[in-house]
Amino acid sequence: MKLAGRVGQVTPSLTLAIDAKAKAMKRDGIDVCSFSAGEPDFDTPNHIKLAAQTAIAQGKTRYGPAAGEPRLRDAIAHKLQTDNRLNYHAENIIVTNGGKHSLYNLMMALIEAGDEVIIPAPFWVSYPEMVKLAGGTPVIVPTTAESQYKITPDQLQNAITPQTRLLILNSPSNPTGMVYTPDEIRAIAQVVVDNDILVVSDEIYEKLLYDGAEHLSIGAASQEVFDRTIISSGFAKAYSMTGWRVGYLAAPIELITAVTKIQGHSTSNVCTFAQYGAIAALEGSQDCVEQMRLAFAERRLAILDLIDAMPGVTCVKPNGAFYVFINISKLGLSSLEFCDGLLNEQQVAVIPGIAFAADDHIRLSYATDMTTIERGLERLATFVKSKL
Ligand code: PLP
Repeated sequence: MKLAGRVGQVTPSLTLAIDAKAKAMKRDGIDVCSFSAGEPDFDTPNHIKLAAQTAIAQGKTRYGPAAGEPRLRDAIAHKLQTDNRLNYHAENIIVTNGGKHSLYNLMMALIEAGDEVIIPAPFWVSYPEMVKLAGGTPVIVPTTAESQYKITPDQLQNAITPQTRLLILNSPSNPTGMVYTPDEIRAIAQVVVDNDILVVSDEIYEKLLYDGAEHLSIGAASQEVFDRTIISSGFAKAYSMTGWRVGYLAAPIELITAVTKIQGHSTSNVCTFAQYGAIAALEGSQDCVEQMRLAFAERRLAILDLIDAMPGVTCVKPNGAFYVFINISKLGLSSLEFCDGLLNEQQVAVIPGIAFAADDHIRLSYATDMTTIERGLERLATFVKSKL
């Protein structure tokens, strides 16, 4: 069958592929320790589930406005005003089928052939693929452990050309777990304003911060950068609502109108009763978020101690999200060879850095229980030792 050319340009998601392989091994009765999924292992908090059940009972099971339930758009705008000091109102918000869909919609509304989108690497797997699907050109800017995998203002300035349309910023980061400090954000914001480009800030991990790390939403740095900012976020990570598929985009009204037009002809509204769960998430107590964060914080310390004690690998201490990004360059294996070997020899699933444009790294998610962390890291240590 002849497929559209755009399909050939897109690489299948390696993270989903490895997760699927680990799950298939588990189904076959193999004792796999998996660190592959970017998904909290907690159940969705009860009050959120109850709100969706009530919505179903009340008949909130029909088509709704393409841009989202008005009450949810209000609640999101209120959250952005109070948590992030961003002056958005309901008309600046569109509710999407997860953070992934919000970014996809954005690329469709904004990017076309000839447009360049700057993506600091290591990056979340879907960014370049979405840019390519929209016909644009991803401009990858590599970062190093020395700068904690963060793009510097000079690097950004040097990557900008007359074709640059957008910068994708992701803090806290998947895959590195790094968080830009408020000063670093302000410096990046200045380059965005000076060059009159747009920035989309993917803030899906903003609630998962450790060791006193602070999240400054780039749009709060100045009115000039706010006018050039788009926020992408969602409920998956902070509220353990991965399967609900609720995310959102916040942006100038003109852009939200464009994205709504696209969404109106592609998916229409997000599942109506799932949106009522999201309303409960925002309007209810935030204790559940903090409880999950504290559990992640404990696991983070445990996993970092175990990696520290492992000769042959290194890791910059992450202070956000739920990932550790480990440098394996001393072992002389590509990240795919490493991950294949680890899964076959020790039944431990991790993600090869090549998926994030960092072939000398692997990514572990510590959104898993402490027993898996202890057993899995013991096996990882055995594997690493055998390759030294
Ligand atoms: N952005 C980043 C950096 C992510 O890691 C993810 C999920 O893994 C998403 C966006 C999309 O999340 P969702 O579509 O589940 O809301």
